[in-house]
Amino acid sequence: MQKILQIKEFEVLVIKAKNSKTTKLSICPESHKVQLRSPWRMPYSLAQKILEKNYNKILTLQRNLEQKIDNINFYQEYSSDMLSIAFQSIDSPTHITQPAPNKIDLYYNPVLSKMQNIQQIRPQLLTKIKQVCMHKIKEEFLFVLSQIQPFEKNKVNNIRIKNIKTRWGSCSSKGNINLSIKLALLPNHLRKYVMLHEIAHLQQPNHGPLFWQHLSNLCQENAKILDRQLKNYHTDLFFLL
Ligand SMILES: [Zn+2]
Repeated sequence: MQKILQIKEFEVLVIKAKNSKTTKLSICPESHKVQLRSPWRMPYSLAQKILEKNYNKILTLQRNLEQKIDNINFYQEYSSDMLSIAFQSIDSPTHITQPAPNKIDLYYNPVLSKMQNIQQIRPQLLTKIKQVCMHKIKEEFLFVLSQIQPFEKNKVNNIRIKNIKTRWGSCSSKGNINLSIKLALLPNHLRKYVMLHEIAHLQQPNHGPLFWQHLSNLCQENAKILDRQLKNYHTDLFFLL
């Protein structure tokens, strides 16, 4: 259950979660808006009071996000191994084109703030990136899968590329593998690592020593080093998605 509450100039999405025992303020990775997770039984009137009390915290969260967006260099071209995204300044409204299959041009209006530009671009950008990458990521995953042992391959039930923001991928006990669209922004070797990581979970659901050993075998190198590389990897484009 969820509802939008107005706290001064901010709209805050309140999400009542069955499994949450406390309240938690954060930026929603989907909408880039502030959200509050609250216990299932907490009335919205109480959530309103809590939010009003925490107005300064909301302000800080919002400012931090704006700062991250501010750091994006609008004159740079960003390239991952899978696609390249270039910014171009233009007088007309902010929009996006796709001049080549793996190239996306973002036209932004310098009169608007970066935040305003990005709010306008995000839905379109996501759609374009999905178009470019969904198919490619899936194809790549199937190739990675074809290189490993048949008994492991057979455990895969379904593979989906999703708009997941908070993690790279997941693997259920039923063999359903989800991968994040953000993989499109990773270098090839790290994208492959994420894929093998989820495949390794088919055999080892937890992150114990056996899991890392198995994953290192699949990667043919030290998986923990790759994992650290992934955690340290950064591109400003992550904030756009
Ligand atoms: Zn894992």
